[in-house]
Amino acid sequence: MAEIETIDPVGDRIKCEIFEAATRQPRRTSRSVSMSTIGHPCERQAWYRFRNFDSLPMDGRVLLLFTVGDVIEDLAVKWLSNRYTIAHAGTDQMMFEDHGGLFRGYADGIIHGVMGGDERWILEIKSAGASSFRKFKANGVEASKIEYYVQLQCYMGYASLQCYMGYASLDKALFVMVNKDNSDLYCECVQFQPGVFYEAKQKAARVIRSQSPPDRTGVKKSDPICKFCDYKSWCWDKNMMVQYTKTCGSCKYLLVNNLTMWCDHPDHPFLIDKWGQGCDDWEEMDHA
Ligand code: SF4
Ligand code: SF4
Repeated sequence: MAEIETIDPVGDRIKCEIFEAATRQPRRTSRSVSMSTIGHPCERQAWYRFRNFDSLPMDGRVLLLFTVGDVIEDLAVKWLSNRYTIAHAGTDQMMFEDHGGLFRGYADGIIHGVMGGDERWILEIKSAGASSFRKFKANGVEASKIEYYVQLQCYMGYASLQCYMGYASLDKALFVMVNKDNSDLYCECVQFQPGVFYEAKQKAARVIRSQSPPDRTGVKKSDPICKFCDYKSWCWDKNMMVQYTKTCGSCKYLLVNNLTMWCDHPDHPFLIDKWGQGCDDWEEMDHA
């Protein structure tokens, strides 16, 4: 749809300034492989993200859109809490972790009594524009976005495995999607599938253990899976790329030993216990 031109040049200038200011927020580095993205079909993409390779810059409008989504999702928890008890929401979010803390996820809460009894389900809230929302409504979460489905499976799996806060069996999750265009809601009950959970757990371990980028899932740069990948330039045109975020993940001195990370620099060989940081001796790794 063509954008309608505005009649006020000052207004246009202010709009551009706001978008530009949004891009100046400091980027957070990744501290782990995230349960929210491990369901993506390409392990190589997960590896670039985990290793903190610089993703393609986002424009200010898209960054604002994500921020608006976060606010809407927080509001949805409030709306739901008018009707149900929700534990571990907001600042008390539940964190699940595995593989020495290098595989992590944060659930939006635990919702009590959705069937009228004392059942407790994992709660996950997402938001989307109208066209994506329609796909979720027509096809459900598993068929519409596998990353969200796998994320829920991880939360249910780890809640049971770790008996999180005494929640020994959380085998159902409530997925709620908010339509950002008209505030319609799509709600779905997702059942625990142990096979999906164990595959995600193993996949995360492969990503963490991999000394070099795993094989590509896409066959060529123009494949649909690669077209929207944040790391496609590293993947297909790495000689054109410059790494600005200097953390251990992209450093040539990083040594991976099973699921632990070591610095192999001759002056200070040590175990790396805080992922997502670096030091002045950083040198770019030579990866395939
Ligand atoms: S560009 Fe394609 S193959 Fe490369 S990491 Fe991204 S999705 Fe995977
Ligand atoms: S040299 Fe510095 S950046 Fe490189 S692996 Fe060691 S601690 Fe990390």
